[in-house]
Amino acid sequence: MPNKAHNNTPHTGPTVEQFVAFMTKNKMNITAQRRRIAEAFFNYPGHHTLEEFYQHMQTLDSSIGQTTVYRTLKLLCAAGLATEIHFTDTVAHYEMVNAGTHHDHLTCVNCGKIVEIYDRNIEQLQKSIAEKYDFTLLGHLHVLYGLCSECRAQRDDEEEEMADEQAKLATQIK
Ligand SMILES: [Zn+2]
Ligand SMILES: [Zn+2]
Repeated sequence: MPNKAHNNTPHTGPTVEQFVAFMTKNKMNITAQRRRIAEAFFNYPGHHTLEEFYQHMQTLDSSIGQTTVYRTLKLLCAAGLATEIHFTDTVAHYEMVNAGTHHDHLTCVNCGKIVEIYDRNIEQLQKSIAEKYDFTLLGHLHVLYGLCSECRAQRDDEEEEMADEQAKLATQIK
């Protein structure tokens, strides 16, 4: 497999034409609304829940229902133009797929902050592991979760406060 350089490749975002081609190939109806949703999604980078993206969509075209938005996001995923990511919460996030690039995610369980990460060693290691177990690798879901520095600082403060209170209580009991 050719090793695509991660940072040197220009980001080629997905296009509505690719979506139309997928739909046509699978004999599915490409409606004006679906086309508009795809276009809006490709012009709106980031990680969005259905609700967030639907709210954004409402500002562009309030006639489009949430179910249509949801179904179109699913179709974009099926076409390989979008990906569904599950962070620590149960709500799925959707993100467009940029050909020739790949990244994983680091997320904060407290505030939901998302950091995109790429590490050549991890990618290589995953390939070696698949080879070792004789698996043809099709992809991976890789989310690292923890606390971001701000939430960690906040937690440390709270713990200190609790320790203080407990110490006070202990002296009162004596
Ligand atoms: Zn946080
Ligand atoms: Zn991402």
